[in-house]
Amino acid sequence: SSQTLGEGLIPIINKLQDIFSQVTLDFKLDLPQIAVVGSQSSGKSSVLEALVGRDFLPRGPDICTRRPLVLQLVKTTENSGEDGAEWGEFLHAKGKKFYDFERIRDEIAAETDRVVGENKAVSDKPIRLKICSPDVLTMTLVDLPGITRVPVGDQPSDIETRIRDMILEYVRHPTCIILGVTAANVDLANSDALSMARSVDPEGVRTIGVLTKLDIMDRGTNAVAVLKNQVVPLRLGYVAIVNRSQDDINKKKAMSAARRNEEDFFRSHLEYREAASQTGVPNLAQRLNSILVAHIQSMLPGLRRQITHEIEKRNAELRDYGDAPPTDSATARGAVLLGLLSEYCQRFASMLDGRSENVL
Ligand code: GDP
Ligand code: MG
Repeated sequence: SSQTLGEGLIPIINKLQDIFSQVTLDFKLDLPQIAVVGSQSSGKSSVLEALVGRDFLPRGPDICTRRPLVLQLVKTTENSGEDGAEWGEFLHAKGKKFYDFERIRDEIAAETDRVVGENKAVSDKPIRLKICSPDVLTMTLVDLPGITRVPVGDQPSDIETRIRDMILEYVRHPTCIILGVTAANVDLANSDALSMARSVDPEGVRTIGVLTKLDIMDRGTNAVAVLKNQVVPLRLGYVAIVNRSQDDINKKKAMSAARRNEEDFFRSHLEYREAASQTGVPNLAQRLNSILVAHIQSMLPGLRRQITHEIEKRNAELRDYGDAPPTDSATARGAVLLGLLSEYCQRFASMLDGRSENVL
């Protein structure tokens, strides 16, 4: 089963994206963006990191994410980097490859300070980071500052409005998938994440509720009713997760250990047994993957129409030559390629149809 975003889907989706890059069609296959929304310190950056399966984002009890981080994941072929298979590169430092993910984190913090100073100020000027790796899906994730109400440090008096506007800029797009992050130890009825998500996605067709910090809920309370959709119902429902505590972060607990810890937590808390498919990061990744598959499925008919149209156009051109069709290899190659693409589309469609029972 998939542990992270895209695992399992990578070969399928990348093949399709390859196809798109080989022909010029009036049609683009972009995967939807995924953005995290929620209060400060609800665990947004931790959720994104866990989904990508890499440690690279600043996290902490204070305001860490002070500018939007637009994270472009780019699938590379093995060994396309010089000193390793995976690297990060910032738009503000083009050409400089970061092979050490700790350094990426430092650079995010340093670049935040460079633009907004060190004293907690925020800016809507995004940091753009590209992570190239053979095992990611080519798509975009957005880490956003959390909603706060009381200005601290160099924050302006209208900090709450500013942050809300900044978040809206990303989540208002109808193709953006919203991860509405709420800590399980706060009242869901007061969730900033859910109220913001509802304002842009009232039908709840692109909002997934993510409950974090299950491990630090009050003794005697649990999130079962929330998971059963009995508290604040969401069409796509909720997934509950346990990420690293600040102590874990200070002790540099590895991501893999964090996942084992999460698994142990849900296994030892029997009340969550009934909702097992809604617990843990792998299940969250699985749900997102299903959404991506559904998205691709909805794009395939258009893709096939485009290819068919292209083939017909070329055939007509060839007929115009009558008895003396051009034998130059480019034309021949083009025809072969289009034939292949059409075949691929058919194959993908049936392959994805076979998976459709996983689709939400
Ligand atoms: P953000 O401000 O929403 O991006 O939140 P962060 O990801 O930076 O996390 C804020 C703090 O909460 C950090 O100290 C994390 O270690 C801690 N944290 C995040 N998720 C969990 C969790 O599931 N359990 C516990 N115990 N702590 C968590
Ligand atoms: Mg953050």
